[in-house]
Amino acid sequence: MNGTMLQGFSWYLDADGRHWRRLTEDAQMFADNGITAIWLPPAYKGMAGGLDVGYGVYDLYDLGEFDQKGSVRTKYGTKAEYLAAIEALHKAGVQVLADIVLDHRMGADGTEDVMAQEVASCNREEPVSDIHPIKAWTRFDFPGRGNTYSAFKWGWNCFHGVDYDEATKHNGIYLFQGKHWSEQVDHDDNGNYDYLMGCDVDEMYQPVFDELLRWGEWYLKTCGIDGFRLDAVKHMDRQFYLRWLPALREEFGRELYCVGEYWSPSVDELLAYLGGEKVMSLFDVPLHYHLFEASSSFGNMDLTRIFDDTLVGRDPWHAVTFVENHDTQPGQALQSFVQEWFKPAAYALILLRLDGYPCVFYGDLFGMPNDGNIPAVRELPLLMELRRRFAYGAQHDYLDDPDLIGWTREGDSEHGNAGLAVLLTDRCGGRKRMYVGAGHEGERWMCVIGQEDDTTVGADGCITCACAAGSLSVYVPERTAEVLENDVVRYERDVPYDLATHLPAPDEHARLEAAKIETLAEEKEEGSDPSPAPPRARQ
Ligand code: CA
Repeated sequence: MNGTMLQGFSWYLDADGRHWRRLTEDAQMFADNGITAIWLPPAYKGMAGGLDVGYGVYDLYDLGEFDQKGSVRTKYGTKAEYLAAIEALHKAGVQVLADIVLDHRMGADGTEDVMAQEVASCNREEPVSDIHPIKAWTRFDFPGRGNTYSAFKWGWNCFHGVDYDEATKHNGIYLFQGKHWSEQVDHDDNGNYDYLMGCDVDEMYQPVFDELLRWGEWYLKTCGIDGFRLDAVKHMDRQFYLRWLPALREEFGRELYCVGEYWSPSVDELLAYLGGEKVMSLFDVPLHYHLFEASSSFGNMDLTRIFDDTLVGRDPWHAVTFVENHDTQPGQALQSFVQEWFKPAAYALILLRLDGYPCVFYGDLFGMPNDGNIPAVRELPLLMELRRRFAYGAQHDYLDDPDLIGWTREGDSEHGNAGLAVLLTDRCGGRKRMYVGAGHEGERWMCVIGQEDDTTVGADGCITCACAAGSLSVYVPERTAEVLENDVVRYERDVPYDLATHLPAPDEHARLEAAKIETLAEEKEEGSDPSPAPPRARQ
């Protein structure tokens, strides 16, 4: 069966402590809808206690069990509820991937006097002060947990640096004396992008490495998860996961599927990070930006290049394709929200094709009521069903028109009634004749997403598909349409696509382009943003 991952949360879920219970109740429903793996949010206590989304990590051993940071439970519930959710998902046949955040720590219990040097926020290799004493929030004693599970206490020498001096109340990035930023990190931003936020963990410092390995063993034994989603890997020493993952895999004798978040639009950077060893897959960030661009470029994105310089185009076996996540949704720092009118097409591009391991976003599947009341993507359950049951067999691509692209799947002998045809546009509507396989000759095919008439497969094994301006059409054999579990989406669109609003007057377009180039030039001149707001900081 085609695998589909679900990102099992969005940023602004209610902090009601009920999420693990919700996922427990929904486990079978996820499986029935073709979800084969779910990426759960960080399960350990963050500095904001019961409100923390999970990325402000305080104590990796507190999965909602100890009274720390003002709460026993996390935003999502208690440890017992977390374990129950994993059990229910496993029972339903869904793999569980845990979100692993090892780059930084936040919410220290106490300060230490440390010798440090402030560095420029736009170039972390450039000192802007002498080495001098600062008061750093770097003591992690975990008084609420004590020595349960681990007696390891964290102090300044477990970190490279911090972003605050309590003595002078000064915000700035401080590198501790005797420490160096890791070399094998992203260097395209800020000189050296090891430092992201909070206390930057020196993950290759042997006592820290050993402790993180002990924690990984404890976590796997305690929770029995199947793999990991690895946070912020471009801010961590590349050697860390090259050592940490094989050690765990060997000890547990398991595959431990992993997908890393390396946030860069450059496929070359992603491929360089994967290197020859390939201990993980990566999210296809370049493809996300292509989908975003297609949705917001007034029809000017060249759709023939949608998969050019993407990870799924260059290394499909290590690409996790996605449309949206908790960082790209509105209100978040990497906001690049694929516009609603293009969402169904974007999901067709990741769900109905041969290549890539697609990840569906919780906020798109269920909507985001706490975030500007963004609705669910109405076509998504049907697209997921089409992937699960019918998106099989040889693929024929028609990525041959800048405004109108399509592809077909022939179906195969293992999956009854399989085969489909897809046509989509980011501008005006159109038609395309596409080969669906000689075996389908004479069949009636029905448009199950879109507003087009049925059509018949010719003696040449081809059908003529059509789609309306700014829309998606998906065709399947008529007998397939009859057995669909989800409702066919024959619309009148929810989100009207209006050429007048999506295609600005030529002058206006030229003005927007000029403004964009000007902004890029200014950014280049300034080096980078002078206020180093961490890309994820919310708390
Ligand atoms: Ca780091």
